Amino acid sequence: MADSSLSVLSELGFRYDPSNLYQQVATQVLNSSALLGLPRHLQIILAQPKNEIMVHYPVRMDDGTYRLFKGYRVQHNNLLGPYKGGIRYHQDVSLDDVKTLALLMTMKCALVRLPFGGGKGGVQVDPRKLSEDELMRMTRRFISALGDNIGPSYDIPAPDVGTNAKIMGWMADTYINITGRIQRRDGVAVVTGKPLPFGGSEGREKATGQGLVYVVEVLLPELGIQLDSMTYSVIGFGNVGSWTARLLQERGSTLKTVIDHTGAIRNDNGIDAEKLAAYVAKTGGVYGYAEADAISEDAFYKTEVDVMVPAALEQMVDGTKAKIINAKVLAEGANAPNTPDGDRILEERGIQVLPAILCNAGGVTVSYFEWKQNRQAERWAAADIDDELRRYMHAAADRVKQMARKHKCDMRTAAFSTALEHIGEVYAIRGIFP
Ligand code: NAD
Repeated sequence: MADSSLSVLSELGFRYDPSNLYQQVATQVLNSSALLGLPRHLQIILAQPKNEIMVHYPVRMDDGTYRLFKGYRVQHNNLLGPYKGGIRYHQDVSLDDVKTLALLMTMKCALVRLPFGGGKGGVQVDPRKLSEDELMRMTRRFISALGDNIGPSYDIPAPDVGTNAKIMGWMADTYINITGRIQRRDGVAVVTGKPLPFGGSEGREKATGQGLVYVVEVLLPELGIQLDSMTYSVIGFGNVGSWTARLLQERGSTLKTVIDHTGAIRNDNGIDAEKLAAYVAKTGGVYGYAEADAISEDAFYKTEVDVMVPAALEQMVDGTKAKIINAKVLAEGANAPNTPDGDRILEERGIQVLPAILCNAGGVTVSYFEWKQNRQAERWAAADIDDELRRYMHAAADRVKQMARKHKCDMRTAAFSTALEHIGEVYAIRGIFP
């Protein structure tokens, strides 16, 4: 860790812990700030979120018992606009994870030049273990517990791991009901990623995968990789992984191997991403898919491919896996998928990493389009959304490329620096109140 980053974290009272995800990501951001010469007071501001909200709320279960749930909403920074970021339902959600993801949202929105700050939320729950009714009551009670900590001009949640369009619909409906006539018109814009008939946007479901494809079509050819002939592997076959795979398939790329929480599969002649997505939708995972062979985790990472797309959870690529990965490029679909050890070893081995705040920014970008449509009471055509998304992602990828050239740095540092440059510029204009 650079001395200046260490001194910022220590001034804020952090006890140095290299295994802590928040400190890892904050350090990456602070190191990039130092490279840019961002004033120290801005480094201090950005190294902590503005608000950390924690709520405990009871929910009646189907058997008549009551269960207390723990939910979080972290609002990292709203310099550029309302807080924006997903809500995760997962049994292991912790305040540190949510803080990390909120910080990354601030960076992502700034990099893409969206008029949003960064936030993130989560509930400690395994949604697969609740009935549909329990899931709905648990969701509605969470939104009512958050109350006016969210709002269409203040903080706008979206889906993340374990949440989906249906859950976003319940969230928006709850918010409209609890705010009464005040938010009858605008209330629908309180969350994005909603179902299409209830204020959702064309293209939102595939947006993160689509954005990743638009980024790699700019960056891979420079690394000597062509989309129409490349091979790739995917970690995680949920929203991001499966859409990335389906869209890369349309470009002629070959999916050789996939791993998810149920197992790993491989077919050197290519796995049909559409068929696999249909299979996973039915069974819940890739395990048992008949048109590929079951392989071990080790074999998954050792399979030779041009590009690996991590699209599961944080910190999956650690030092051990980084040593055996047989890919030229890692295009990060998931947030913070590598440990610092993993990152260091990939760099030593010359494996290029295309960072998450760039590669997976398509989701929040189409969320921005959805929010705009809601506020203007409009509905845009799917083709217009794709065109606009391509424009935003190409511009962001070009910005990162220029920054990497200017500072002769890696793409992750360049992506954070591109975001921080914009944040620094706006702070310089606005100043610190009062
Ligand atoms: P999802 O819940 O749809 O899918 C998660 C996938 O991870 C599943 O396929 C699951 O099997 C897999 N997984 C879980 N544990 C695993 C393990 N131990 N080994 C291998 N695979 C495992 O989630 P998602 O929405 O696709 O999100 C994936 C990542 O992308 C997360 O980091 C999320 O924050 C990030 N992200 C998502 C969006 C979005 O629009 N959905 C946008 C930006 C970033």
